[in-house]
Amino acid sequence: MNNNKTELFISGVDQSETAAITSYGFPYGTLPIRYLGFPLMSRKLKISEYAPLMVKLNMSFQSWSAKLLSFAGRLQLLKTVIFGTVTFWTSAYILPKVVYAKLSLSAPVSYGPMFKVYLAATVNTPSLWVDWHQSTHLTGQSFWTINAAPTDSWAWRKLLDLRPLALRFCKSQLGNGKNTSFWHDVWTPLGQLRSFIGDAGPRSLRVRTTAMVADTVTRSRWNLPHPRSQREVDLHAYLTTINLPLPVDVLNNVEVLRPRQASQSWVDVVWFKGAIPKHSFNMWVANYDRLPTRSRLAAWGLPITSSCPFCSNFDETRDHLLLSCEYSVTIWREIFIRCHPPASPFANWSELLSWIRVATSSKLKLLRKLASQTMVYHVWKQRNNLIHNQTSVPAATVFRGIDRELRNIISARRHRKRFDPLMVMWLR
Ligand SMILES: [Zn+2]
Repeated sequence: MNNNKTELFISGVDQSETAAITSYGFPYGTLPIRYLGFPLMSRKLKISEYAPLMVKLNMSFQSWSAKLLSFAGRLQLLKTVIFGTVTFWTSAYILPKVVYAKLSLSAPVSYGPMFKVYLAATVNTPSLWVDWHQSTHLTGQSFWTINAAPTDSWAWRKLLDLRPLALRFCKSQLGNGKNTSFWHDVWTPLGQLRSFIGDAGPRSLRVRTTAMVADTVTRSRWNLPHPRSQREVDLHAYLTTINLPLPVDVLNNVEVLRPRQASQSWVDVVWFKGAIPKHSFNMWVANYDRLPTRSRLAAWGLPITSSCPFCSNFDETRDHLLLSCEYSVTIWREIFIRCHPPASPFANWSELLSWIRVATSSKLKLLRKLASQTMVYHVWKQRNNLIHNQTSVPAATVFRGIDRELRNIISARRHRKRFDPLMVMWLR
């Protein structure tokens, strides 16, 4: 050890031990020191010691208060700098409430509008963040009514705390009314009807708390009883301004925070207990058909061939590459021996999903999920190897890699009840 680069920190030793240790000639150090960018302490940080965080974030906030940034630019700032810095600190410390309050105050345009922009930007683009929260925290419930569980993360609980603020900015476009919650979304100028009419609302209007706006309309008529309070009269007055019947196929714009059947259809196939994160992530991208296949790249105008790198006979689309290409079919055949084949070969992605889901037992379903994710990951990896490194290997070799990894995955989880029977099934 180098005396000049090393400092001595002593805790819980008596004087004679201290004397013995210091005789080696190391200088005493004092806390806090900075380690990996964090102040390192033997006790909780004082509010004043959060100063570096405050200064850094204040500078970021000020740079946007110059108003030179476009909305997109501000969003980028929020997503990268602000969230990044806060996440960095919260990964190591629990931020005291005071610090959080100061942060909220120091944002000149306040968190609210930015929060709204953040949501708006995530509506029509796949967001790992939103999908993950939908599957982890919402599981079929409304974002606006769900209660925080003690096991939820700090960040998620803070987000739930911000709901009253967010509500002011999340106005729902009614559309066909099938995705707009009657009581919880803001679809009239009266605000959230639950708070406007009060807790007695569902009983007096005879509309259950989980109802969608569409449920209260019968063709060209609102299906509501006569108003019995001034506020109900106000609501009726507004309803007369809405043209009925509601349009058939227009979706509203804040549906992202409510579970939808469309996005629910694959969530359980992507995220489940015991999945390998890199496999899940790859599967998530594939589910949105966002893998940069050649046909997608060519469609963006890149001067490349769009043909499949394995067979050269077809365009390289997700469904061809991963499901119907002879190369992948060879691998699937091996998987089907162990996981039972579908009634007919996969014609498209949704057939893969339904094959996984119609498994006759939960064990088989779990095995199909694991095998499909591993297959999709390995084939995509080999496809990249072939294109970028000109490494060509037979499909059987790729399957051997999948086989080996799947055994490792199952073996590493054999003490879990759900994984225990899988090895026997896979090794048939
Ligand atoms: Zn092909």
